[in-house]
Amino acid sequence: MSKSDHKTALITGASRGIGRATAEAFASAGFALILTCHSSMKELETLAAHLHSQYGVPCLTVQADVGDASDVTRLFHDIDELDVLINNAGIAHIGLLTDMSPEQWRRVMAVNLDACFYTCRAAIPLMLKKHSGRIINVSSVWGAQGASMEVAYSASKGGVNAFTKALAKELAPSNIQVNAIACGVIDTAMNSLLSQSDLEELRSEIPADRLGAPEEAAQLILQIAQAPGYMTGQIITLDGGWY
Ligand code: NAD
Repeated sequence: MSKSDHKTALITGASRGIGRATAEAFASAGFALILTCHSSMKELETLAAHLHSQYGVPCLTVQADVGDASDVTRLFHDIDELDVLINNAGIAHIGLLTDMSPEQWRRVMAVNLDACFYTCRAAIPLMLKKHSGRIINVSSVWGAQGASMEVAYSASKGGVNAFTKALAKELAPSNIQVNAIACGVIDTAMNSLLSQSDLEELRSEIPADRLGAPEEAAQLILQIAQAPGYMTGQIITLDGGWY
């Protein structure tokens, strides 16, 4: 796939939530898009058709489980150009650590952390060809703070933070910047795992007195993609003053 008139951004988990809002933000900025989802292909195709007609940008959709190395290899098979990689896909798991099975633990790690390895391993050679590129990982405040009942999720996002900082150092000489955003509570389907009273309690702890909007996360991701090239290795918090 070659799209000479546009820079190209690949966004994982773009069928809803932060990924969907990010797709809209990048389309409005004129990026050609490669959008992926795990299982909501119909929603993703509807989104792609909307973005193409609204902003006139090429928009490719691919179904892929980012936690599966061979699926990610297949995803990159037809991609020959990439400027921005956004590792957004993620899953939460709420429960006591002692109630968690090894399979549940592995799944959280695979989708949230291993995926960053799989996608970056495939994207970096494309960026090296251009001597330019941006990798933006979507992390969480729990990656630094840790959350009770979310040990695996917190560990996976802590891994994403360390991954981001280490890879930024490895790729800085090649003019490829690697940064992450650490979200607080953003109003998406991910939080449907929480009860209304849990959400209310979280909101009351947040100085901004509200949850973040997915569009705010999307705006920050786009700004990082357009930030000066000297900014790399940063974990930028978006949490309404919470931490
Ligand atoms: P969401 O559940 O609405 O969206 C998650 C997206 O990831 C969906 O499109 C889903 O299809 C995709 N996905 C899940 N498993 C996948 C897989 N195996 N392969 C490919 N895609 C897969 O949640 P969201 O809030 O939009 O989450 C986006 C990112 O933001 C996640 O990495 C999440 O950890 C992070 N985050 C969210 C919050 C929040 O409060 N919503 C807070 C901190 C961090």
